[in-house]
Amino acid sequence: MSVMKHIENLQKSIAKNDEKRSDNKSFNNEYNIWYKWTPEQVVRFVGDFIQQRSHWIGPSEFNNTKILTSDAFSGEDKVPFNVNCANWDLETEEYDPNGPCVICKLRKVVYEILKSEKDALDESQQKRLDQLHKKCGYRQSYSWNLIDREEAIGFKIANLGKGLLESLLNLHSSYQPSEFWGEEDGVDLVVKKTKKDGGSGSGKGKTDYSASFVMEGPQAKVTPLTDVEKGWDMFDLKVLCGKQQDQDKLRSMFDPEWQQLLEAYETDDDEDENENKGKAKKDGGDPF
Ligand SMILES: [Zn+2]
Repeated sequence: MSVMKHIENLQKSIAKNDEKRSDNKSFNNEYNIWYKWTPEQVVRFVGDFIQQRSHWIGPSEFNNTKILTSDAFSGEDKVPFNVNCANWDLETEEYDPNGPCVICKLRKVVYEILKSEKDALDESQQKRLDQLHKKCGYRQSYSWNLIDREEAIGFKIANLGKGLLESLLNLHSSYQPSEFWGEEDGVDLVVKKTKKDGGSGSGKGKTDYSASFVMEGPQAKVTPLTDVEKGWDMFDLKVLCGKQQDQDKLRSMFDPEWQQLLEAYETDDDEDENENKGKAKKDGGDPF
């Protein structure tokens, strides 16, 4: 193949890729935009990262308490296992404790019960609510546009936990030129993923990530973006990572027991507001 022909083909495939990107749906179907970490990879981070909060409401090997009924995860209207916290503002990177997130609301109610009605709960009720409280917790993570050198056909969105982000920022403090994620003076990084349990094979150990520079002699090898890479569209992280569930719908999929629990608490709150302040809360019996 002549060089000209080769370039022509390359341009065609780039144009085709861009076309797919503009039609988000078909693009998503053919190209998984979310990056999957493997034990070892060479990657290039580009642009700014964002900070986000989410709730893992799907099945978990550490906690089998269910917030939602099992049907919630199947069918046309199914809910993803991981949902963004509706109390987190991606723009300001702030958490609003009085926001609309129904998972956080349930967590708050459970916390209050565990605190104020501890003596009224038997051991198994306490354990169950403890687990529910944990299950409603959030995960803080960071998303970043990245190029995987093994599959360099466009950007992907990598989701990073606090540990990996910290090791990247530590690396950054030793990187002089500018920012290692810059288009012109950024560098490739080797990211390794290891299980802390030392390979016992159970897969239950905590996962650790570490990062290092790809070196050229004594220095980090600078890898300016090529013209092709500059032609790729970076993902709008705030749009793609800010998707929100309809909170009323999500709440309607809660296990009926937790729906009743929320309702009982809301009724109590209303009564409190209607009654004189300072009056003792009516004992509405065991709400669960
Ligand atoms: Zn939340």
